This record gives sequence, C-alpha cells and structure tokens, in this order.
Amino acid sequence: MALQLSCPCGTRITAYDDDFVATVQAHLAAEHPDRAYSEDEILAFAMPVDDTWVG
Ligand SMILES: [Zn+2]
Repeated sequence: MALQLSCPCGTRITAYDDDFVATVQAHLAAEHPDRAYSEDEILAFAMPVDDTWVG
C-alpha cells in the first residue's frame, strides 16, 4: 500500500507505507524545521493511494 499527504507548502509526498512516516519527517526537517509531527499525526493526514503513485 502507498500513502500520500499534501503538505501545506504544496509538496505532494507519496511513499510506500513502510517508508511514509520517514519520508514525511525528512520533508519536514528539510523544509519546515520549525514543525514536528508525530507518527500518529502524520498517518492521520495521510490518504491511501494506489502503488502506481510512487515514483
Ligand atoms: Zn512542505
């Protein structure tokens, strides 16, 4: 399964569920160092998408 999250900055983050939280947290650390979200919060915002979305 893959998950997708649209960041408020406009970036659309898509990754397989195994990597998803780490991928989102890497984006936050790189682009939004003042923001930190827990795994539960990130998963609450995520939407399941088809695996073909993962580049
Ligand atoms: Zn962002």
